[in-house]
Amino acid sequence: MTDKLLPCPFCGGKAGYGRGGADFSRHGWNAGCVNGHAVSPDMETKAEAREWWNRRPKPRRSPSPQSREATPQSDALPSPQQREESR
Ligand SMILES: [Zn+2]
Repeated sequence: MTDKLLPCPFCGGKAGYGRGGADFSRHGWNAGCVNGHAVSPDMETKAEAREWWNRRPKPRRSPSPQSREATPQSDALPSPQQREESR
């Protein structure tokens, strides 16, 4: 096990840990995109925050557009700069 966070599914950027988050009534760990695209809810432990983040479905762009319906995600904020992965 590692405490590495997967890159942001929206921008491919780094993800990091935070504490407290938006909900200051609780002091938990959360994990989210450093560019603010998405953030996990507050979790009790860092590991939980990591699990939540790494488990979240990734909106992969598949070659065939009709192969999968876009997953409705409330936290799928429009990214200011959509970067295409060209690798
Ligand atoms: Zn991002």
